[in-house]
Amino acid sequence: MAYEKERSEMVEYQLRDRGIKDERVLAAMESVPRHLFVDEYLQSKAYDDGALPIGEGQTISQPYMVAVMTELLELKGDEKILEVGTGSGYQAAVLSMLAAEVFTIERIQPLSLRARGVLKQLNYTNVHVIVSDGTVGLPEHSPYDGIIVTAAAPHIPQQYIEQLKVNGRLVIPVGSRYSQTLYKIKKTATGISSLISTPCVFVPLIGKDGWDEKEV
Ligand code: SAH
Repeated sequence: MAYEKERSEMVEYQLRDRGIKDERVLAAMESVPRHLFVDEYLQSKAYDDGALPIGEGQTISQPYMVAVMTELLELKGDEKILEVGTGSGYQAAVLSMLAAEVFTIERIQPLSLRARGVLKQLNYTNVHVIVSDGTVGLPEHSPYDGIIVTAAAPHIPQQYIEQLKVNGRLVIPVGSRYSQTLYKIKKTATGISSLISTPCVFVPLIGKDGWDEKEV
């Protein structure tokens, strides 16, 4: 397989050395061919320590950020997960190896179609790729064990909490247009508990309960 050495080094130096501990997350990221989720001219940079453009003004997240967010979901293997912001489909592929079923929503159709093609070609068959405004979640398949939002929200949409199971986890960057904080929210029997993780910078979550397209 191409880029095996680069992928292994990414896992060792960018993930393990920086404190990612969940062995299942590390193994999934050692296995998913990240270079196939970017355009050919960027493939040699796919294992670098950063985000990369994927067209339509959007980006595939830095590997470390993918690992942090995935680890926060605490996956064991039997979960149903919702991802908002399919982008390249890379995060969805990682999730598909760690959970039972993944629903992923993207608002930009060409990105969604491309991601669906790559996921299908690589045989990640438990991922459902949907085009719609993910700020309202995906009520028809709820409740979820985990919701992961890979675009920056101005606030936490209440629908996400409603669409989680009790003990379900929501991982979401929240803040201003150019800087956010990663939150992990757990739904409890009586409300929510929240944990603040790392500072981060994501492209905006645009839609009915996110940023207005005209503002960004
Ligand atoms: N998880 C992706 C990276 C996503 S970048 C990956 O692994 O490549 C964030 C994505 O969120 C962009 O593609 C953007 O178009 C999408 N997005 C922004 N607002 C959205 C919304 N309301 N619903 C669905 N997708 C949205």
